[in-house]
Amino acid sequence: MSAPGFYYFDNNATTRVAPEVVEAMLPYLTRYWGNPSSAYGFAHPIAAAVEKAREQVAALIHADPKEIAFTSCGTESNNAAFHSALVTTGRRHVVTTAVEHSANINFGQYLEKRGYEVTWLPVDSAGALDLRLLEKAIRPDTALVSVMWANNETGVLFPIQEIAALCRSKGVLCHTDAVQTPGKLKIDVRELGVDMLSLSAHKLHAPKGIGLLYVKKRTRFQPYVIGGHQERGRRGGTENVANIVAFGRAAELALSRLDEENTRVRALRDRMEDTLLRVIPQSARNGAREPRLPNTSNLAFDFVEAEAVLMLLDQAGICASSGSACTTGSLDPSHVLSAMGLPPMRARGSLRFSLGVYNTDADVEYLLEKLPPIVQKLRAISPLNPDHPDNTAYDVAAARKKHATHQTAE
Ligand SMILES: *Cc1c(COP(=O)(O)O)cnc(C)c1O
Repeated sequence: MSAPGFYYFDNNATTRVAPEVVEAMLPYLTRYWGNPSSAYGFAHPIAAAVEKAREQVAALIHADPKEIAFTSCGTESNNAAFHSALVTTGRRHVVTTAVEHSANINFGQYLEKRGYEVTWLPVDSAGALDLRLLEKAIRPDTALVSVMWANNETGVLFPIQEIAALCRSKGVLCHTDAVQTPGKLKIDVRELGVDMLSLSAHKLHAPKGIGLLYVKKRTRFQPYVIGGHQERGRRGGTENVANIVAFGRAAELALSRLDEENTRVRALRDRMEDTLLRVIPQSARNGAREPRLPNTSNLAFDFVEAEAVLMLLDQAGICASSGSACTTGSLDPSHVLSAMGLPPMRARGSLRFSLGVYNTDADVEYLLEKLPPIVQKLRAISPLNPDHPDNTAYDVAAARKKHATHQTAE
């Protein structure tokens, strides 16, 4: 389905808007452009479309439609969850992890500057959390535990059901950033047991600029965007009708594609990853093989700069990324890979490939043909390369040892 000369492996950054989704939303930009809150008949089908979309997204996560508040994006949903928990409980401490999306990392740092306390839970070299540390971090003044379900950089999954049960036993609200999960994992908020959950439509083949926050029935909630009575008083602002309709249709598609993501896409990802690790020496996977999203692969190639690899991939028509799109432009290594204990050099040589339902065998074949020679070419001129003739200062033995430890750490 990709255009010729365009190979997209960055589905965790954003996804192509599905043609079915465009078709569903268009009438709400052309014929049905009214305000759904208006009283006249013209507004009725528009309000009805918003409520139908609410049912569709609720079905995706097994929630009651009344528990869904549409927001402007995943970032807003996460910010709103933190804000509401702090304001409704009056407590001043939150627990989150060192590997969250920048939405949480930067909101947490903002809170710290305002005199709140944040516990940043560490992860091990495979990207896993220690739940005993999480349990110890919960205090009487803890307002919220917010732990992402699937990491956007590595695809590593956290055991949200266990975490939510722990929070419940301690009487603390539990939120999860589930933005990366639709279409890839089965989502059942009752089974998960969380109080709040965030999604963003552009990660599931709908447009950017629309998200949702699930708020469990009877959870006290204080809006973050304060204004009109839209969204049952949970989020002010005239509804983004066309995008909401798009989100609803995309939710249906995500449900119907769950099997494909977990069979065909997973097999493509595995073939890509296994082949790259086999044919490129001094390479390793970042993060546990399982449990992991079926579409994501984060790979380290020693002695190269990811930015240079990405530039050459781009020239070949391949879109991939180093870490998250939200941190592109900063030269610091990924905060996720750093938290996993990767040495800066290895983190800076790491690339993320995230696949989706529009990827084909031919896409992967093309990547497998292009990437290995690019890495080889860059290594040949790399001052980091111990075999490079100009390199005298580099400690080869230490680098190899680090490499070996990392390979076995799962
Ligand atoms: C993309 C993403 C977000 C942010 O969603 P936006 O709609 O772009 O604000 C939050 N969390 C995770 C895990 C993401 O991948």
